[in-house]
Amino acid sequence: MELFIFVVLGVCVGSFLNVLILRLPLGKSVAFPASYCPKCKNPLKWYHNIPIFSWLFLRGKCAFCDQKISFQYPLIELLSGLIFLLAFLKSQNMFDAFIIAIVFSLLLALSAIDLKYKAVPDNLSIPALLLAPLSGNFLTNVESALLLAGGFALLRIIISWIIKKEAMGEADIIIAGVIGGILGVKLGLSAIYIAALICLPVFFVVSKRGYELPFIPFLSIGLFVTWCFETEILRFLGMIYE
Ligand SMILES: [Zn+2]
Repeated sequence: MELFIFVVLGVCVGSFLNVLILRLPLGKSVAFPASYCPKCKNPLKWYHNIPIFSWLFLRGKCAFCDQKISFQYPLIELLSGLIFLLAFLKSQNMFDAFIIAIVFSLLLALSAIDLKYKAVPDNLSIPALLLAPLSGNFLTNVESALLLAGGFALLRIIISWIIKKEAMGEADIIIAGVIGGILGVKLGLSAIYIAALICLPVFFVVSKRGYELPFIPFLSIGLFVTWCFETEILRFLGMIYE
């Protein structure tokens, strides 16, 4: 029952993330007005606005103008529900589960905004950085967050100096701190390594088309994958070191 409520909460958080993704980069208020169709501007009725279900029973079309509603909406809601489900199952207590779920939800919104707008609003990344160390041992987590963020900042300075161009964004440093705060230094480094591994092939494909690759989605996936397979990755690292 607790799990069910937590997942439903996650799906509703996902619904709010959609509002953030849509309005925050444009500088619009996230509270007013109530949800409306972005195409015909008709305000939605409450039953048009039930996460996932409304999209399904409307068959992905606006009830007023019949235009397509982006698949992004149910997708973000589903992913957010999944995040809350896993956070509940993997955490030792309700507080940790809640912190993890909120930080991952913020990263989900940040990834979507980075993909869509090539922007990373501080209003989402800084709260993620401040919340991340709260699950588990606070002081150790803060130390890891500072180490990874510092390491990333240093790497940025060196790479920028080598390529004579500004490398990476400030936002990547903040997200590196989030990763350290949640995973610690050792696992945090694996997360960044996994992010780079997934990023490289994609980078080679899109860079030829002059498309600038957002890095936040990859860092988030690296963090999420490492967090999911923590035990396996630690065992694997143990084998390498021995
Ligand atoms: Zn419409």
